[in-house]
Order: sequence, then structure tokens, then C-alpha cells
Amino acid sequence: MTQKIAILGSTGSIGTQTLDVIKHNPDSFRVEALAAGENLTLLAEQIHTFKPKKVSVATRDLAEQLGLMVNEPVDILYGPEGLAEVAAATEADTVVTAVVGSQGLGPTLQAIEAGKTIAIANKETLVSAGHLVTQAAAKHGVSLLPVDSEHSAIFQCLNGEERAAVAKIILTASGGSFRDKTREELEGVTVEDALKHPNWAMGAKITIDSATMANKGLEVIEAHWLYSIDYDRLEVLLHPESIIHSMVQFVDHSVIAQLGNPDMRVPIQYALSYPNRKPTPTEPLDLIKIGTLHFKEMDLQRFPCLAMAIAAGRAGGSVPAVYNAANEVAVARFLAGSITFLQIEETIDRVLDAHEAVRDPNLDEVLACDQWARETAHNLVF
Ligand code: NDP
Ligand code: MG
Repeated sequence: MTQKIAILGSTGSIGTQTLDVIKHNPDSFRVEALAAGENLTLLAEQIHTFKPKKVSVATRDLAEQLGLMVNEPVDILYGPEGLAEVAAATEADTVVTAVVGSQGLGPTLQAIEAGKTIAIANKETLVSAGHLVTQAAAKHGVSLLPVDSEHSAIFQCLNGEERAAVAKIILTASGGSFRDKTREELEGVTVEDALKHPNWAMGAKITIDSATMANKGLEVIEAHWLYSIDYDRLEVLLHPESIIHSMVQFVDHSVIAQLGNPDMRVPIQYALSYPNRKPTPTEPLDLIKIGTLHFKEMDLQRFPCLAMAIAAGRAGGSVPAVYNAANEVAVARFLAGSITFLQIEETIDRVLDAHEAVRDPNLDEVLACDQWARETAHNLVF
């Protein structure tokens, strides 16, 4: 049976790679609906190639412009309502959440309530409101299938294993663009330097998050929610080659790891084809060519964004949502040239410091804390 797919964020790094996976498996997958932000040229091409029934863009103006660009019969929606409709009001079986940031939270919850299987790339959603997303998924009997490479690796390592036999989960981290720099050397780094990731080609926000190591922090929280594992049993290991995507250690000290070349189409396709596997157009792993793999202890002093994320995860309640929102604004300010690289961590630190935590927040409280953190981060003067 052909699986119908909706993609939130179809013009981004994960979105376009998801469409590549679909293109290679036309008998298995069909595009039902797409949502993008502002990239009309690419969305128009995607409409032409994949013939979705519904699409959504960021604003009404953009929707009108898109209408003039396409000849295919397609419903063109816009704004948060349009995004919600693509998430929840289509015939899609699976929704790939690949927008960036906590703006994905509302549509993800709506897709879950509509009973859609979720292929979750948008980790900020789980960081902001992991308790609400996992509760909703359990209530509606919906699967949250990981797209993030580390979480896909963990998911594959846990296949068929007894949860009680898991001793710990080891998330690997490449170290990002600045892994070899000292803290002093980070003082004057530029946006261009930060955007050069050694192993992965990704969207701008997650590339900066990889350089600050906030990304690994978000991933620790993501793993906590996806695999209901406490923070004491979640470890991060520096592994510069990004060949081992993560590992699980069991009580008998057996370690199961998942390996592969860094290519997101593998975890994306696994999330779509689970529990089956299919060929991909990716390069097979050649360990002889790679020769050596390296591992190093993670230095939490060197990467305070990781340390703060783990502390935020442990604190729970509204704290991870505030961490996430402060980070999103800090990254946007860094990309816009209004703060330096090291002021990203300072922003998160100062906003977390000023926050009065809410325990077990409901959706409105999460959104209020997110909004407060954004405004506070935006108004910080350095
Ligand atoms: P990109 O920045 O490449 O893409 C973001 C997408 O979201 C674009 O399609 C953008 O549209 C769309 N978008 C932005 N605003 C809106 C809006 N208001 N309504 C609808 N769509 C919107 O990000 P990535 O693909 O890199 O990342 C997406 C998510 O996946 C993030 O949460 C990231 O952490 C996660 N992830 C990414 C990985 C990667 O390899 N890239 C790996 C693991 C996780 P447009 O461009 O048209 O404006
Ligand atoms: Mg990852």
C-alpha cells in the first residue's frame, strides 16, 4: 500500500531530503501535502514534481504569489492555520515534522490528535514540551518515529530489546565546526566559519547549534522523552567522524551501535519505512577506507550550552522550553550579526537565570514561557 506523506518544512534540509527519499520509492510513498515558509520557487517546483493536494506558506501575500506561479490543481493555504491544516487535515498517514524551532509544537500536537504517525525531525518540539507530546502520542496511539540520526540509531539499537536491560544510551557528537578551537579562539569567530559543519550539510540553525553544542543538549532532552530514560543514563561521547550514530549499552555490558556514512536520507527513510528496510541511493559504509574511528570525553566546561541543556532537562517543567526559546533567539541574533558567537551561551545563561520555573506546565504555560524567553533574549543588551 502506498503511504501518504505530509511534510512540514518541505523546502528545508530535511524536507528536501525527505522528498528525495520519496522520489526514489514512488511505489511506497506519495506526497499528500507540503508546508514551507518563504521559498516559493522551490515549493512551486515541488508542487510540479510531487502533485500534493494541499500546500501552505508563511503568509497570505506569499500564498497569492504562489498561486500565480503554479498550474497544478492544489489548495494553497497560509499562516499558522495553513500549517495546522497540512499537519492534521489531510489524508496523510505520516507527517514529517521538519520545520525549525518550537513553532512546530502546535502543528505536531494537532497531527498527533488527528492520529497521524509522526516522523519527528523537529527536536525543539520535544524539548519545549516533551511531556505534552509524548502524553498526546500515548493517548492517541500514535508512533513518534525519530528522524534525528542519533535517535534513529538508538531506536534501531533498541529493536526487539527489553527496556529493563538498557544500562545507558550513548549519544555521539561530531563536535561541530569549532571542535578543535579553544574557548579563547572562539572569541572572534564569524557566522561563515560557524556555518561550515565538517560532516553534515544542514539548515543554518542546527549548524550553529552543532557549533555551540546546544544541538547535542537538545538531543539529550529529545532522547529522554523518546526513550523514557533518565538523565543519569544518558551520555554524550565526542566522535569526530560521525560514523557511529549512537549506541546503547545493556546490563550485560554488550554495546549495540548503529553505523553508516553521515547521510540523513538513511534515518529519514527508516522513519518512513519502519519496520521495513529498503535500499537507499546513499554510499555504503567502507570501514577499510575510513580506517580509524576516534572517541573523546565530552568537555562540559568547553561546551557550556551542552551543560546548560542537560541541567535544564534535569530541572524539567518549563525550563527546557525556556532554554530552547532563548537559544533560538540567540542563534537568530548571531546569524543577523547582532551578537557574537560566545554571546549565544551568555544569552541562554542570562535568560535561564531570570526564569521562574513552572512545574508540569500545560500547553498555554509552555507557550507563555517560550514567549517570555524570546522577548527576554531579544532585549538583552551586551
Ligand atoms: P531548514 O532551515 O533547512 O528548513 C526549515 C524549513 O522550515 C524550511 O522548509 C522553511 O521554509 C520551513 N519553515 C520556516 N518557517 C515556516 C513556517 N512559518 N511555516 C512553515 N514552514 C516554515 O532546517 P532543517 O531542515 O535543517 O531542520 C529542520 C528540523 O529538523 C529542525 O528542528 C532540526 O533541528 C531538525 N534536524 C535537522 C537535521 C538536518 O540534517 N538538517 C538533522 C536532525 C534534525 P522556507 O525555507 O521555505 O522559508
Ligand atoms: Mg542529530
